[in-house]
Amino acid sequence: MDNYETLLERARQKLPQLSREEKRFEIPVADVQTGKQTVVKNFAEIAKALRREPKHLAKFLFKELAVPGSLKEGALLFQGKVYPVLINQRVQEYAKRFVMCNECGKPDTTVQEGKNIIFIKCEACGARRSMETI
Ligand SMILES: [Zn+2]
Repeated sequence: MDNYETLLERARQKLPQLSREEKRFEIPVADVQTGKQTVVKNFAEIAKALRREPKHLAKFLFKELAVPGSLKEGALLFQGKVYPVLINQRVQEYAKRFVMCNECGKPDTTVQEGKNIIFIKCEACGARRSMETI
């Protein structure tokens, strides 16, 4: 019979280890001010964490949330009311579709422009995929 200590030790070993990369990749939570307009105050910071052009992320959010808007001094402005939870959900989706590597799941990817196509290239494993258009 295994004693409690042994079982505990075994359970501990089975816990998945978080790699440093996964810990390092934290998308900032949108700092949102709602009113007639909705302002994401830390938008530049979010785009920076994702290593993507703010314009590209903004275009995605305007389309996905079906609310027009604009960029203003590092902030994102929506011409209407958008719930913060929806903004955060879409940012996570953007990360999945335009940032994370499909092969290894790491966020260390760069955008490479080809002739008629844009690629997402992973710096960690070298995988490359074409980027979907928004
Ligand atoms: Zn990869």
